[in-house]
Amino acid sequence: MRSEVISVGTEILLGEITDTNASFIASQLPQFGIDLLYVSQVGDNPDRLREVFARAWGRSDLVFITGGLGPTQDDITRETVAWMVGEADQMAVDAEQERILRAMMERGGRRMPEQNIKQAMLIPSAQPLANPRGTAPGWWVEKDGKYVCVMPGPPQEMTRMWEHEVLSRLEKLADGILVSRTLKTTGLGESTVDEMLAPLLSSTNPSIGIYFRSDGVHARISAKAATREEAWRLIHPVEDDARRILGQAVWGSDDETITGAVGRMLRDQRLTLAVMESATGGAVGSAVTDIAGSSDYFVGSLVTYSGQSKVDLGVQPEILAMHGLVSQQTAEAMARAARERLHADLGLGITGIAGGDELEGQPPGTMHIALWDGDEMRYSHSRYYQGRAVAKSRAVLQAMSLLREYLMARAANAEG
Ligand code: ATP
Repeated sequence: MRSEVISVGTEILLGEITDTNASFIASQLPQFGIDLLYVSQVGDNPDRLREVFARAWGRSDLVFITGGLGPTQDDITRETVAWMVGEADQMAVDAEQERILRAMMERGGRRMPEQNIKQAMLIPSAQPLANPRGTAPGWWVEKDGKYVCVMPGPPQEMTRMWEHEVLSRLEKLADGILVSRTLKTTGLGESTVDEMLAPLLSSTNPSIGIYFRSDGVHARISAKAATREEAWRLIHPVEDDARRILGQAVWGSDDETITGAVGRMLRDQRLTLAVMESATGGAVGSAVTDIAGSSDYFVGSLVTYSGQSKVDLGVQPEILAMHGLVSQQTAEAMARAARERLHADLGLGITGIAGGDELEGQPPGTMHIALWDGDEMRYSHSRYYQGRAVAKSRAVLQAMSLLREYLMARAANAEG
């Protein structure tokens, strides 16, 4: 099945927004064995929209369109799709869609401007796709053995619609389902993982790919079969083998983040965490609180950027005087201070130079991280060369790796 994606919106062409909808759709299609052949971006201009839509309809079996479903005059995706499939004169307000639209506006305490009614319009070959996160429903059009999937532009509306309305329809179209499981590792290089998994690499279904990512090396196991269940049956034994071979280097799978994995371990071990961070400017606290339920184990993060603020919150001035702001000893003192001040089981301290100039003889990108449990101190340091933003985000991952190593060792001790 040949498919293409069209992203509608002048903002995209002006470079004001990035076309994440197209990349999201592109990343989803391989699992259905649907080939994506073209991606286009077009502004809200009637003639150009017609030109792009007509070309897509002529050459593809399945066209995905996002954006331009709003109530205003320049939102013309619906009208253009109706024209494209030859049903422009049959477009009419659907009573059920109108009821849903009015109810939604009322719930929001708003009167519906009459021009919004166009969002309740359908054509004979379109089924509405529910959009509980917004007002504009999508359309699923089937005509002459071809399909058009029209979704709203806002990504949170589009992805929800994708999951709840579109996936099941695509499954029916797919000839074979591709399923994959990604194992995420830390502490091993790409070629080491490759070497370790060599005995499994010759298999073609499932196949294994090894990828270097910002949070470590990933091994992706993919299988194709007639049904999802069958594909999983092919994956499971290979996944078991890969997990056995990679052992403790695997910290999670699929969409899991290392912060989520660490959070799970903290909760399981009933430990609380407090942070004092300098160079990361709150990024550690922010990452930890991206995980739902983190209040179970996360006490808080003290962002102490200046030397004085570190002292005010419990770092001994002698340590700063003797070792400088950016040092192992300061990171360790910060870990101790965080643990004490915030009454947590574990204290994590991070100091470094994210970017800019050398400080105290240390180059930008240097990060010192320490973890203190009241008894044992762990420490790690690194240098990142790719600029400020990367240094900060890598330091967060490094801190999570340090925590993970500690928690793994602690769990192993408890068992042994
Ligand atoms: P609305 O009902 O909110 O007007 P719409 O379907 O008309 O939705 P647009 O007006 O085209 O959508 O876009 C609304 C917003 O959605 C944009 O301002 C942008 O933030 C986001 N958006 C639109 N298209 C894309 C895209 N391809 N990738 C990422 N974000 C997008």
